[in-house]
Amino acid sequence: MDFSSLALNKNLLKSIAEQGYQQPTPIQEQAIPVILARKDIMAGAQTGTGKTAAFALPILQLINDSSCEKKVIKALILTPTRELAQQVHKSIETYAKFTEIRSALAYGGVSIKPQIAQISAGVDILVATPGRLLDHLINGSVSLSELEILVFDEADRMLDMGFKDEIDNILKRIPVSRQTLLFSATFDEAIFKLSKTLLNEPQLIEVNQRNTAAAEVEQIVYNVDEDRKRELTSHLIGARNWRQVLIFTRTKQGADALAKEMCKDGIKTQSIHGDKSQGARDKALADFKEGKTRALVATDVAARGIDILNLQYVINYELPYIAEDYIHRIGRTGRAGNKGLAISLLSPSEEWLLEAVEKVVDSRLLQQWLPGYEPDLTKQPKSDRNSRGGQKKRARKHALGEKTTSKNKGKSTNKHERRNR
Ligand code: AMP
Repeated sequence: MDFSSLALNKNLLKSIAEQGYQQPTPIQEQAIPVILARKDIMAGAQTGTGKTAAFALPILQLINDSSCEKKVIKALILTPTRELAQQVHKSIETYAKFTEIRSALAYGGVSIKPQIAQISAGVDILVATPGRLLDHLINGSVSLSELEILVFDEADRMLDMGFKDEIDNILKRIPVSRQTLLFSATFDEAIFKLSKTLLNEPQLIEVNQRNTAAAEVEQIVYNVDEDRKRELTSHLIGARNWRQVLIFTRTKQGADALAKEMCKDGIKTQSIHGDKSQGARDKALADFKEGKTRALVATDVAARGIDILNLQYVINYELPYIAEDYIHRIGRTGRAGNKGLAISLLSPSEEWLLEAVEKVVDSRLLQQWLPGYEPDLTKQPKSDRNSRGGQKKRARKHALGEKTTSKNKGKSTNKHERRNR
């Protein structure tokens, strides 16, 4: 199949050709005709599958065909993070390049005034994070009374981050009669529950098996002692001459500390997390994309939406406390059919986290030792400190410091960060 058989107009086909896309990806092939037929969809697709174009292209086509010529918001795309919002907005601008369709961005952590000016100048599409959109709706600087299409991008993440209340509040302020498109990398009970309240006879589209990692990503687990992880990370990057590596830590402090130490090892590294200003995050990401820094250390929340097409290497310096995050992390590589390698560094006290990851990806991950970095088996874990109950309790405390889950939303120290989105 090629794009010309997808009922998209010549302006859209022109920008697709300019991007060098040869043929639609599986999610595009399946979703575009259904969206053009004005049906609701519930799509299981990770980042890297081409899901943004899968909704952006048909939305642009539908707006182009719409009888409403007024510059009012006809489509709203909700994303969990500012990074993803920026990414989606950039894609929409790229695809809309040869059309008259205008789009705007609204996310927190930055001044609201320029957003108000841009939106009031008249836009057809708004890409927004839930907290800031709600601010605009309450202020009256955004009206969604003529909304025709609502998209939830990375809906699982939105729920994980505790945005359910904001979502419910937004839903009260938009037309009931609309087309709704829900995209999620993973499906669980909470997503199905949300879909029931949101979608009208949706068509289910799945391009990957549920909750499976991108097939193009090779996954390796190295057993290593906690206190040698940094050394091993710098060794891997240096000895194998990797030029662009995304590294995940669980905490903001951990990200900063690792970046600092790696710089001392001679590897240009920056960190990106929710405590950094939007400007600092944008700059770190731009430096990484341009190859000015070799490694970027990120927390899970900050890394959402990072789209680097040719990123080959992801290192899980620590496994995530929320096992589904593993899929999101390794989905940063192996994008659009490129090969990727995801290495997880596993200390003896993290084995229970690997078990949880293996449950989510539904396969056993091969554990191996890297010569010179073998774990020291004479170091016996202190039974109390490393008991599973103790680990889980500490894990929960740590996780709450960085993000919320749908169960404990609103109670975490992350509330401030959510309001800033
Ligand atoms: P996404 O899953 O939307 O984050 O897209 C991942 C990457 O795939 C982006 O960099 C897109 O530019 C790229 N992409 C989207 N559609 C295609 C296509 N049909 N062919 C090749 N690359 C694509």
